[in-house]
This record gives sequence, structure tokens and C-alpha cells, in this order.
Amino acid sequence: MNAFAEGFVEAITRNASETRELGKALAQELRPGDVLLLVGELGAGKTSFAQGLARGLGVSERVTSPTFTLVREYAGRLPLIHLDAYRLEGPLDLYEIGVEEYLDGNGVLVVEWGDRVKGFFEPPYLEVKFEYGSGDDVRRVVFTPVGEGWSERLSGILEA
Ligand code: ADP
Ligand code: MG
Repeated sequence: MNAFAEGFVEAITRNASETRELGKALAQELRPGDVLLLVGELGAGKTSFAQGLARGLGVSERVTSPTFTLVREYAGRLPLIHLDAYRLEGPLDLYEIGVEEYLDGNGVLVVEWGDRVKGFFEPPYLEVKFEYGSGDDVRRVVFTPVGEGWSERLSGILEA
């Protein structure tokens, strides 16, 4: 994993379980009210990463893609709220789903296709971008802190 002066951190994963491990490592740093926006094409690894977050938060239930359910809540060390914005038109749809209720809660909100609804969220939040790498199973995962408080925590997963 590399940290750059520009303020982002990137990792390369070589299979889905490495992406899950990355999520699991980040889970140790999560606090109530955190927002993670997961960005990347279909199959890039967003749900795999969310599964790792869930495991790291001690969620025992199996986490699946919430594409059809839109939002699911899982019980763990902190509640994990897993949302998929793929079918949403934009930020306004999140009010209809009632997502603001989760923002003041104890939970961690993880949004797949987060770039589609970015305007809804005030910093701070962490953007996690998944890109295809060279080779079928290679992914580049780029963490970009937006607002205060995330950079320090990312250094915590550097050692993981
Ligand atoms: P998304 O939620 O972004 O659509 P998923 O995590 O559901 O992505 O799916 C990723 C797919 O790519 C899975 O079939 C997984 O096995 C495969 N895969 C291969 N290499 C990786 C990797 N390095 N990280 C994550 N997934 C990978
Ligand atoms: Mg998904």
C-alpha cells in the first residue's frame, strides 16, 4: 500500500479475498456516523469490499449486493448500513429512502455507486474507488479522504 503526498492512499489487490481483507482492515478504524462512498464499475469489487467491512465489524450475516433491496442494515460492532445507488436518479432519491435518518445514528453508511449521489453527503466522508488493473483479477483501490479526520485513520491501515 502506498501513501502519497497528494493525500490519497492506494492499494493493489490480486483477488477478491484481498479486496475483502482491505475492507476488514479499514473496519477497525470505523466510528459511528462514518460514511464511505464506493465508486467503480460493475464487478470492480465494491460488494467484495463491503463484505470485508462487514466481517471486520463482526457481522455474521452474509452481505450481498443490495441492488434490488436498495438498503440493508446489518448488526455488528457498529450497525452497517449498506446502500446501492445504482438504480437511483440522483441525490434527491436518498431523501425518499430516508437515508438522512442513518446519518445521525451509530451506524456506518456504505454506499455502492456513491458517485451517483455524491451531492447528498457533506464532508467528511471517505471515497473508495475501484479500478480494473492489468490482469483479470487485479484491482487498484484508491482511498480519497474528503474533509477532516480520515487521513490519520488511513495511516492505520497502511500497516495492515
Ligand atoms: P461490484 O460490487 O463492484 O459490482 P463485486 O465485488 O460484486 O463488484 O464483484 C467483483 C467480482 O470480481 C467478483 O466476481 C470477484 O470474484 C471478482 N474479482 C476478481 N478479482 C477481484 C479483486 N481483486 N477484487 C475484488 N473482486 C475481484
Ligand atoms: Mg455491488
